[in-house]
Amino acid sequence: MNLSDLPPLRESLEAHGLLAKKSLGQHFLLDLNITRKIARLSGVGPDDLVIEVGPGPGGLTRALLEAGVQVIAVEKDPRFLPLLQELSEAAGGRLRVELADAMEVDEADLTGGRPAAVVSNLPYNVGTPLLVKWLTGPFTPTSMTLMFQKEVAQRIVAPPGASAYGRLAVLAQAAARCELVMDAPARAFTPPPKVDSAVVRLVPRDDRPPAELMDALQTLTQAAFGQRRKMLRSSLKALGGEALCAGAGIDAARRAETLSVAEFLTLAQARLALR
Ligand code: SAM
Repeated sequence: MNLSDLPPLRESLEAHGLLAKKSLGQHFLLDLNITRKIARLSGVGPDDLVIEVGPGPGGLTRALLEAGVQVIAVEKDPRFLPLLQELSEAAGGRLRVELADAMEVDEADLTGGRPAAVVSNLPYNVGTPLLVKWLTGPFTPTSMTLMFQKEVAQRIVAPPGASAYGRLAVLAQAAARCELVMDAPARAFTPPPKVDSAVVRLVPRDDRPPAELMDALQTLTQAAFGQRRKMLRSSLKALGGEALCAGAGIDAARRAETLSVAEFLTLAQARLALR
């Protein structure tokens, strides 16, 4: 069987008697027009290596395989293995499936050290921690094309001053160029979730901060946005407060949401210098 001979995804799910499990954030994309669009937006092509987290019934996996890429899919739910095995055979072995928790896997081990992009319709419950894992390393994908709840997608791309601007925006934008590239209404999924979703494409910057600076940025943004209405001298008190801001040349009377990503990086550098 070839990829083009596979039955529609809905039929595959029925044939294997598979129903979505809420506890694993299972909301499936069964419309290949949508998954093909995501594959196209990801920019991956023949001979690229892609890690897909949570292939589930394999709608996005099919689209990626049609684009000619080699896929390593990490799935936690063993119920999907027989269906994904069929897909792997139809793709001439370009799909390898690992039964594992994506939070636990060592991506460099999976890929044998080969560069790889990540493309995924992420499970809601682990979407943000997975993104932070890939932003902070040690494994850095060549690009990430990721479906999130729309509210999370907006928090990733938010500019300073916006109500959605916070820890996630600073971490993501410090490490990568981030763009919201597609909206996906709740009705695009089976079963439909309670909220809309959106796809964000992130391309790691060549000059992204080293691990130590990303760590300092995590600590700072947690404190600063944990008390976002307060002035930095107070929200950052435990991390050096007034002296820290002075070291970075930043007015301690400002609030977190007014600082640019570059200013947060300056603060993080000052924090490292203080230690
Ligand atoms: N990619 C499929 C699609 O678009 O139809 C399924 C997406 S569904 C939102 C999320 C998938 O991630 C499910 O297949 C679920 O079993 C899987 N999953 C949930 N938590 C996971 C984890 N920690 N590691 C790997 N896969 C996980």
